[in-house]
Amino acid sequence: MIPKTNRQSTAALIPETCRRVLIVGGVAGGASCAARLRRLDESVEILMFDRGPYVSFANCGLPYYVGNVISDESKLLVASREMFHERFNIEVQTESEVTSIDRSTCTITVRDLRTGHTRPERYDVLVLSPGAAPIRPPLPGVDLPGVFAVRTIPDSRRIRTWIAERNAKSAVVVGGGFIGLEMVENLIHRELSVTVLEKLPQVMPPLDPEMAQAVVEHLVTKGIQLHLGDGLARIEGRDGGSLVVVTESGVRLPGDLVILAIGVRPETMLAKNAGLEIGKRGGIVVDAQMRTTDPNIWAVGDVVEVQDVLTGQETVLPLAGPANRQGRVAAESIAGRATQFRGVQATAVVGVLGLTAASTGASEKGLRRAGFTSFQTVYLHPGHHAGYYPGARQIDLKLIFSVPEGRILGAQAVGFEGVEKRIDVIATAIQFGGTVHDLAEAELCYAPQFGAAKDPVNLAGMLAENVLKGDMPLADWLDLGQTDALVLDVREADEFASGHIPKAINLPLSQLRSRYAELPKDRDIWVCCAVGQRAYFAARFLTQHGYQTRNLTGGYTTYKTLKAAGLAQ
Ligand code: FAD
Repeated sequence: MIPKTNRQSTAALIPETCRRVLIVGGVAGGASCAARLRRLDESVEILMFDRGPYVSFANCGLPYYVGNVISDESKLLVASREMFHERFNIEVQTESEVTSIDRSTCTITVRDLRTGHTRPERYDVLVLSPGAAPIRPPLPGVDLPGVFAVRTIPDSRRIRTWIAERNAKSAVVVGGGFIGLEMVENLIHRELSVTVLEKLPQVMPPLDPEMAQAVVEHLVTKGIQLHLGDGLARIEGRDGGSLVVVTESGVRLPGDLVILAIGVRPETMLAKNAGLEIGKRGGIVVDAQMRTTDPNIWAVGDVVEVQDVLTGQETVLPLAGPANRQGRVAAESIAGRATQFRGVQATAVVGVLGLTAASTGASEKGLRRAGFTSFQTVYLHPGHHAGYYPGARQIDLKLIFSVPEGRILGAQAVGFEGVEKRIDVIATAIQFGGTVHDLAEAELCYAPQFGAAKDPVNLAGMLAENVLKGDMPLADWLDLGQTDALVLDVREADEFASGHIPKAINLPLSQLRSRYAELPKDRDIWVCCAVGQRAYFAARFLTQHGYQTRNLTGGYTTYKTLKAAGLAQ
């Protein structure tokens, strides 16, 4: 679990005479790098090229422009060409595509997309920030009119025009990840009926399936047609210009437009053709200073491979925060400062029709895939603020931690309020190498309308501490179908009657002290309640009376999502 240190560059700092810095790609990583470099060094010449018509635009805002939440396109332009020139003396060349890199002569070839002319440009330092392109699988129909990917302002403009001109009423979104779900929300804002096709049996692939289940259920309640566990086979055009998405299993999903949001691929063509090293995950290999295998070339953003600080493995993570920070690190490095990119831990959030899902660090499925087994997970379902203050909404929270050290490995949360705050706190704890004890001890803001004296973050830490101290041994939900243990539900009889785990018997906590002798001492007892709290009280009581108990963490609330996600019987 101890991360490898990134390969350190041994190349010398740029000689004094090398003063021309060219940047390919002028949005998140490229623009950050350019502006930071200028703040550090007034003497360098900085030129930034982008093949699109804009630089420094808010790609994260594009779905909301489609949805008319942002109706003024100019709001998406964070900084203009003129501003870069006036404020920073940075020359921006838009509609200028960099088509090749000649490392032997330190030149790039730039094609002016308006005239078609090409010209060489010399560099002393080259920074690559070309991003990642939406994946367009080579399937029939993906290039039909009405099939869109969302990457640029012109892309979202085209979608808006299509919806308006065709009076579109329905859409199929292929892909249930971040961008897919943001598009779902915004197409709903435009009053379209929306179908989602997703190859995995869950939406939001970074989440574990049972945590994604709450998102699935929310989408269904909002009237979204979900078609999970089935892939895209082809898209057919119909008379009148509408489309039909045909799935691998032969299901036909009609729509007036189709959004392809099945992921992105690092734009490595330039780097590959120039002989720069590309890693196993398909991104450009860089060191901790964001320098490629060529000492004169740096690369940042969606195009690079970076280290996952939790698993120590290389990963590609197409998110704006890392791209911006890497741009800054590259600028510092180019300016000769000691600097280092710490790696990523995949902290991310999505909002969809009022629901928020957020995660940081490793997922359980990711850890299992990577071969880690010495970890535990706890589930809890606290209110986002004190229950007695009006309007408390449940947060479903999952914390993953190493055993026996208690190092925080990851967390996922889904709910309506206060979700991203909890994940951000846990993300920061992870960054500082924190343990579950740090979460239990965290001193966080509290007043009734904001949180609780024991914040959900504290509770998650306390639960995990209970596990590590042996106060709350956990049963594995996945073993529920095979176990000989007695499953004891300590909720009240009416709660039990309204739904329970198969095979469970009911002995409410309120009667446990008078009736516990009815329970067998020669069998393991797996205790469960609604969310885990009463089960914990019951298990502590029984353990101290000589019973072998384990807790089903998260209780019946967790069971329902595990079952719906196909993970519990
Ligand atoms: P980009 O910002 O994509 O910039 C690359 C630029 O390089 C592009 O303008 C491209 O035209 C240009 N370029 C490429 N090749 C060349 C070439 N050969 N010559 C000249 N120019 C070239 N991230 C989040 O963290 N949160 C979000 O909410 C979020 N929402 C998103 C929503 C959408 C619709 C999209 C598309 C992305 C979203 N992202 C989000 C991801 C985030 O935008 C990216 O991770 C980030 O922009 C990557 O920065 P970058 O500099 O690597 O690439």
